[in-house]
Amino acid sequence: MVKIRFLGACGEVGRSGVLIESEDTEDAVLCDYGKKMEGEEIFPEHVSGKKLSGIVLSHSHVDHCGGIPLFYISGSVPLYTTELTYQVSEILLHDMLKITSKYLPFDKSELYKMRKYKRFLKYGQKKKIGSNTWITLYNAGHIPGSAMILVEMDGKKILYTGDINTTETQLLKAVDPLEIPLIDVVITETTYGTTDHKPREESEENLINSVKNILDNEGIVLNAAFGVARSQEIALVLTKSNNKELFPITLDGMARRISKIYISFSEMLKNPKKFVDSMKKIHFIDQQKRDYERRKASSKSGIIIAPSGMLKGGTARYYAENIIDGINNAINLVSYQIDGTPGKILLEQGIYINKHPHEEIKVKCQVNHFEFSSHAGKSGLIEFLNKLKFKSHKKVFCVHGEKEVMNEFASNISKLGYLAETPEIGQFFKI
Ligand SMILES: [Zn+2]
Ligand SMILES: [Zn+2]
Repeated sequence: MVKIRFLGACGEVGRSGVLIESEDTEDAVLCDYGKKMEGEEIFPEHVSGKKLSGIVLSHSHVDHCGGIPLFYISGSVPLYTTELTYQVSEILLHDMLKITSKYLPFDKSELYKMRKYKRFLKYGQKKKIGSNTWITLYNAGHIPGSAMILVEMDGKKILYTGDINTTETQLLKAVDPLEIPLIDVVITETTYGTTDHKPREESEENLINSVKNILDNEGIVLNAAFGVARSQEIALVLTKSNNKELFPITLDGMARRISKIYISFSEMLKNPKKFVDSMKKIHFIDQQKRDYERRKASSKSGIIIAPSGMLKGGTARYYAENIIDGINNAINLVSYQIDGTPGKILLEQGIYINKHPHEEIKVKCQVNHFEFSSHAGKSGLIEFLNKLKFKSHKKVFCVHGEKEVMNEFASNISKLGYLAETPEIGQFFKI
């Protein structure tokens, strides 16, 4: 028997963590151990590092990796993931330590200790990590380096999706369920379990047209995007047609460092050459001359791509403040905007919240929103499940979704013949 215990991301998006334990051996695998941004409990339910055969990390977003340093306060657990995910996780974890307002029980020294225990896996490489346990990673299509995790323990095959995208993007191939062998159960994300996204081509076209329009009127357009994956996706969209009208493009903030890592791991992307060529067409703000170059980029017509995606911090705020008064300028929000964030307030009320001094500024520039989700939509998730091959019962555990979304998704797939569960935090199931 294998026991699956749900430690977090039950009825919420954040603090992912699933423990898979053998009842017959000492083997125990932890898939992800993330952090939540808000609330009292920001980490998944506690698990002792001593009993773990290994931690497997699906991807670098902090809702999946943000709690992993806890295991290196006094522990020594191997951490399995792709090399690309590891490198980006380190940057995001350092950034998390810098920006978090909450007390965290670890600091940089745990991040350095974690390095000693990293073990890199390639997609499709099967690795034995316990007396009777193997793991294999598969492309998840979500962000570069992201993986689904197949855990094979005591003859049972459990697929943990992490975050997946069933739509091909400029950066990545879509997740491929046909790669996965016959499984017993799947633990799936349900972030967009009840909504479908707009067709990708439509979002790309709308973005290109809006940017062209601004440049035709000699304006400046800021694309506020996450530094990880979204900034690079937007760069690829804007450079794909080689359209001379769509220049110059400036890239700033953390997106520069991440882009350089992606260049060195370009073989993990859908089209390595296209990505490297695209990056060559873009000006990366030079850290040494940043003041001068930022002033220049925000004073003449052109395109800027800078984090953060919801205007909570990062260099996007510098540019936003410089361009909001120009009627020919635009701020494009290309990520999901959480309620209460400066991005959401700007989008809904046309007001920019200045931090020091606190001021509410009515903006004169255009504010647009474009959808470029890196998660599967409702139909994509169902299609994904339909293509998986199950040994007998089609057992699906729904996680990583708001409670109502998770419940509605589970009830929808139940009608399609799936045995759907919406686990509570701390709940376990034997298979
Ligand atoms: Zn993610
Ligand atoms: Zn996530």
